[in-house]
Amino acid sequence: MNVLVVGAGPAGLYFSYLARRQRPRWRIRVVEQNPPDATFGFGVVFSDRALEFLRGDDPQTYDAITPHMEQWTDLTVVHRGTPVVIDGIGFSAIGRLKFLRLMQQRAASVGVVPEFNTRISDLGELKHYDLVVAADGANSVIREAADFGTTITPLGNKFAWFGTTKIFPTLTQTFVENEHGPFNAHHYRHSPEMSTFVFECDAATWHRAGFASMSEADTLSYGEEVFKETLGGHRLVSNKSVWRNFPNVRNTRWHAGNVVLIGDALRSAHFSIGSGTRLAMEDAIALAKSLVRNENETGEALAAFEAARMPIVEKLVAAADASGNWYDRFPEHMRLAPRDFAWSYIQRSGRIDPARLRKISPKFVDG
Ligand SMILES: Cc1cc2nc3c(=O)[nH]c(=O)nc-3n(C[C@H](O)[C@H](O)[C@H](O)COP(=O)(O)OP(=O)(O)OC[C@H]3O[C@@H](n4cnc5c(N)ncnc54)[C@H](O)[C@@H]3O)c2cc1C
Repeated sequence: MNVLVVGAGPAGLYFSYLARRQRPRWRIRVVEQNPPDATFGFGVVFSDRALEFLRGDDPQTYDAITPHMEQWTDLTVVHRGTPVVIDGIGFSAIGRLKFLRLMQQRAASVGVVPEFNTRISDLGELKHYDLVVAADGANSVIREAADFGTTITPLGNKFAWFGTTKIFPTLTQTFVENEHGPFNAHHYRHSPEMSTFVFECDAATWHRAGFASMSEADTLSYGEEVFKETLGGHRLVSNKSVWRNFPNVRNTRWHAGNVVLIGDALRSAHFSIGSGTRLAMEDAIALAKSLVRNENETGEALAAFEAARMPIVEKLVAAADASGNWYDRFPEHMRLAPRDFAWSYIQRSGRIDPARLRKISPKFVDG
């Protein structure tokens, strides 16, 4: 089989590794428009089970990545300057570049080396392959090769992704307000030396603050001022930290002809549930499995991939949508007192009902 994988993010790298590991004779060409050490953002978090989904079938990758992760068992919500700790809500995190480097090494261990600095823009090229795996992210160009029933719906809030040298003890959600309106920061350490600091606000606050005409450096200074208490004298660090609206990407068709979508090209999941990277990797696992099982029937393999994976994805996407909508209305929720606010926060995705929460977070519920 002659396979083209477009994009060497988590989805493309992991698919290539798995496919080559199981079928060494397949020709797998991976192209990536960026150099190997380029990345946006700082860290990524994985919710509760972290990389457990890899452990059974791929202990080598699990063992390669897990030692580099920061892990903690509680989550903190800070509102009106009052920290409320929600025990038992575990997360782990890793720098995105570190993660991609490790995934590049895993791919290299089975002989897959992406062609970096190579961008696919001529869709005519795709016909030369038995299979094209579009792992080219939320702004996928490969999706234009056919009608996948794509919709991209931006959420209302504006966010920007920064880092900081302040090391936070747990994943923390901090909510503050100034004369322009309310702000929220998602912050967590992703290495012993660095934390990720994503901050967001609603569109009205964004306009009042004048971000539309502010440079990246001025935005950074503004963020440092708003979150002065949280940062405790540490600076923010930028890396293409431009303001964006989170795009909810959906496709009614997952494959067409010889092209299949995986990862963010297929669907995005709001970053507040820490699942985008995991979903991308699980797509890769499901696709590789289906192709290996239906080796000479690519059409059947793609249909089986979609049938098996869609119900699982739909559940997570529903949770991500509910969480994204909660964030879009966080200024309203901020009228609640800190504990009620934390309760509203933890219930936002609809995945943890009160009975389950009592089991997971007994101290928080008793409090
Ligand atoms: C602010 C923010 C915070 C996030 N935080 C988290 C988090 O904490 N945890 C989490 O799990 N997820 C998080 N995510 C989501 C996560 O980043 C994505 O879900 C994940 O990276 C998807 O992987 P992917 O491989 O599908 O796509 P991507 O990581 O986007 O990779 C796609 C690759 O394709 C390449 N490419 C694109 N077009 C072409 C082309 N034409 N030719 C060649 N190459 C091309 C790109 O350069 C890129 O390297 C966050 C996202 C955002 C925006």
